[in-house]
Amino acid sequence: MATVSRRAFLGGVTGAAVLGATVTGVAGAATGPSGRSASLLGAVQTTREHRRAVVIGTGFGGAITALRLARAGVPVLQLERGIRWPTGPNSETFPHMFTPDRRASWLWPTTVFTGSPPVPFRPYTGVVERVRGVGMDILCGSGVGGGSLVYHGMTIQPSAENFERSMPSGLDYGRFDRDFYRRVASVLKPATIPDDLLNAPAYRSSRMFLDKVAASGRQGFRVPLPLDWDFARRELRGEFKPSYTTGDVIYGVNNGGKNSVDVTYVAAAEATGRVEVATLHLVRDISRAPSGKWVVHVDRIDTDGLVQERKEITTDALFLGAGSAGTTRLLVKAKAKGLIPDLPDGVGSRWGNNGDRIFTWTPLGDSPGKLQGGPACVGVKDWESADPLTVILGPVPFPADLGTTSIIGFGIVRPEGRFVYDPIRDDAVLHWSQAYDAQLTGAIRNRIRSIVGEGIVSELTSPTVDTTSIETTTYHPLGGATIGDVCDGFGRVLGQPGL
Ligand SMILES: Cc1cc2nc3c(=O)[nH]c(=O)nc-3n(C[C@H](O)[C@H](O)[C@H](O)COP(=O)(O)OP(=O)(O)OC[C@H]3O[C@@H](n4cnc5c(N)ncnc54)[C@H](O)[C@@H]3O)c2cc1C
Repeated sequence: MATVSRRAFLGGVTGAAVLGATVTGVAGAATGPSGRSASLLGAVQTTREHRRAVVIGTGFGGAITALRLARAGVPVLQLERGIRWPTGPNSETFPHMFTPDRRASWLWPTTVFTGSPPVPFRPYTGVVERVRGVGMDILCGSGVGGGSLVYHGMTIQPSAENFERSMPSGLDYGRFDRDFYRRVASVLKPATIPDDLLNAPAYRSSRMFLDKVAASGRQGFRVPLPLDWDFARRELRGEFKPSYTTGDVIYGVNNGGKNSVDVTYVAAAEATGRVEVATLHLVRDISRAPSGKWVVHVDRIDTDGLVQERKEITTDALFLGAGSAGTTRLLVKAKAKGLIPDLPDGVGSRWGNNGDRIFTWTPLGDSPGKLQGGPACVGVKDWESADPLTVILGPVPFPADLGTTSIIGFGIVRPEGRFVYDPIRDDAVLHWSQAYDAQLTGAIRNRIRSIVGEGIVSELTSPTVDTTSIETTTYHPLGGATIGDVCDGFGRVLGQPGL
């Protein structure tokens, strides 16, 4: 059963209209997303199908959900907007930070990461989306494996006190400590940097930072990372092209050796034979049919973002694993457009940025070096004070020795951000004010200053600049559909059976 409209172009992350008005398409017009436009390139069919369970997204949330469902015997269709990014020794799957190309950005005509040169290119279903908000942009992964493709992989278990300060009441830290964190560790296999690598010239910036931490009277730590450090050794031996050892990991690690979600949870889910991963399937809207079944409105696109087919997939059970930004946008749109009646009022609220703050650090006369081995592998946990903070050295793959590197701070932030539906963009837009994390930012700045040197003299000899105040982004979006406000303790949306 198919209705026919025209082939459409998705002009960017929000699907903004590019070439005119939607031509036709009964299903799309009735319940599908607005804001899409048609080109004159040819016909697009709308097809319909029913599935027992549908999972949106293939990052941590979506992949683990699909695996658990499959192991319980449930057949799953997993919808992923992006493509697969297969890695292996000396592959060139991902672009490089300082020589980027169209693979770098999700349907956007230039790079979206701060610091990556803004070269123009033809939009592509690339690996990083920048979700543009008011006062804050979110950077998140797109592709099979979600954010794990591009994340550094810092895998840090919180203390019981900090867990209780930041997570909803009703979640038992003891269960996380005894069971859940261990299960994750058994798959991701986090490991700290071994001595021989930390002492290699390529990791000079990490050693410098640890020295500063020790000199400030604190104890540094090595960050557990989900990777096989032998890959870095093989880079230093010249067997693989450098990636880890130059810190060139922000668009993904070409050589592999990283236990990202695509090669762990997604691979395990697919190996059950019960999970079908459909790539280049961009979910535009979700709705609830009068029958109570869930309807997923999907554009199947090509890597240029052109719509090849529209799908309406009904399901008994719908799981939203599209990340904080993706899931919240779908829910806020559904509520604002009346596609799902009676969604909880908390949808879109209680959003926070993890306190993310990136500072440059330029110790004059004592350069961190051109080669800054990564991923971010050393830091300091300052968790006992009123503002518990984690501060990490963030290596940068500079093409030349610029005498600088970065230091990143995180903390527990007030979740004051809110997504609001914008009918012109047909999207939910994040609203944030730097006032929400001003105090936390001050605490991070002071903590970093107290590590790399105190006072006005050291500000001259070891300057730091808060880059996040210039371009306000986060890699760590959290909230928007939180337990207690929107979901119960199992993640079931309140009053919405099967969601
Ligand atoms: C550069 C960077 C570095 C980071 N470093 C760290 C780190 O060191 N340690 C750490 O713990 N965290 C880190 N993070 C954060 C971490 O990646 C995220 O917290 C994590 O990936 C969130 O998992 P998730 O499953 O909720 O969402 P995601 O991993 O974002 O997965 C969501 C998936 O849904 C897909 N999707 C979204 N919308 C749609 C749609 N409408 N239709 C179809 N598919 C859709 C996306 O393509 C994606 O694959 C980093 C993130 C970035 C960007």
